[in-house]
Amino acid sequence: MAATAPTRTLVVGAGISGLMAARRLSELGVHRGATVTVLDKGRSVGGRLATRRIGDAVLDHGAQFFTVRDDIFAAHVDAWRTAGVVREWCRGFGESDGHPRWVGASGMTSIAKHLASGLDVRCSHLAFSLERTSDGTAWRLVTDDGAAHEADAVILTAPLPQSFSLLFSAGIEMPEPLRRIDYDRTLGLLAVVDADTHRVPAPGGLQDPDDVFSFIGDNRAKGISGTHALTFHANPAWSLAHFDDDLDTIHARLLTEAQRWLGDARIVGSQPKKWRFATPRDTWPDRCWVHDSGSLILAGDVFAGPRVEGAALSGLAAADALSG
Ligand SMILES: Cc1cc2nc3c(=O)[nH]c(=O)nc-3n(C[C@H](O)[C@H](O)[C@H](O)COP(=O)(O)OP(=O)(O)OC[C@H]3O[C@@H](n4cnc5c(N)ncnc54)[C@H](O)[C@@H]3O)c2cc1C
Repeated sequence: MAATAPTRTLVVGAGISGLMAARRLSELGVHRGATVTVLDKGRSVGGRLATRRIGDAVLDHGAQFFTVRDDIFAAHVDAWRTAGVVREWCRGFGESDGHPRWVGASGMTSIAKHLASGLDVRCSHLAFSLERTSDGTAWRLVTDDGAAHEADAVILTAPLPQSFSLLFSAGIEMPEPLRRIDYDRTLGLLAVVDADTHRVPAPGGLQDPDDVFSFIGDNRAKGISGTHALTFHANPAWSLAHFDDDLDTIHARLLTEAQRWLGDARIVGSQPKKWRFATPRDTWPDRCWVHDSGSLILAGDVFAGPRVEGAALSGLAAADALSG
């Protein structure tokens, strides 16, 4: 817990981790006049909970679904289900394993939009540097537009390599094993097709179907797109091998590899997508990392599991660590 209860908290990152943290801090409301501000460099909220439109088609292009193991997270998911924000997609691909796969009702970004509602979230704000204020009692974060934001506490939820420079500017070193954690890359293809391919069976997902793709999602079968639209995610090895190719080459290669999954359908619109920090290769044993000051916290999916649930739980843990 911070030595002095924070009244101004800055959260960097409006992915599920940052939004869960911000929402929890706002809802706790234990400090009168407390403010929570979320900054994200992206144009909209969600981070790796990402949904894109191409014409009439709607495609999830980051996380495709999420699972629930933890009781605390289950209670949040239940509230989202009641509010119509999420619904069950299926209980497995191929054979049912009995475990629900949940999706955002209008795409995975629905979850982030729901969480952000009512919060002070500022998109297109890249956190550029962080330092102690001159009297040492607070933090001063500067965004890429040159604006300075002062806060009593800061929660950083970006993938760790994207937080390095902020910590460096603040003269803070994270533990070496944490600093060494790398992330798998994912190259993706979003493809709008003119007909059902009949190659992605109900419920509309294929896991590890060949030696290129780790997942193929049929967004129409999933229920988020009225138009036939497929999401292809290349596996970590293939993505690593091709990640530094130029984008047109990546796009062309993915289109070639996708052909065998199209049947008689034709692609009528497509976009490539690069995720440099898709999935952490290791996880840290604690749900967040608290700096000695007690007022600077790292959170995100590297801490509580490389998936939506882990990121959410890490955000909650960060808020709890600040609130005591
Ligand atoms: C292709 C892909 C498929 C996946 N599939 C699944 C799946 O099926 N199921 C599952 O459970 N999980 C899946 N995941 C993982 C899941 O998406 C993540 O674990 C989770 O969304 C991470 O949330 P987060 O809040 O920790 O990070 P993020 O969502 O990455 O949020 C961090 C935010 O920080 C922002 N940011 C970064 N640097 C700065 C800065 N300097 N200033 C301001 N903002 C900054 C970013 O813009 C981003 O919005 C997948 C991920 C990818 C990429």
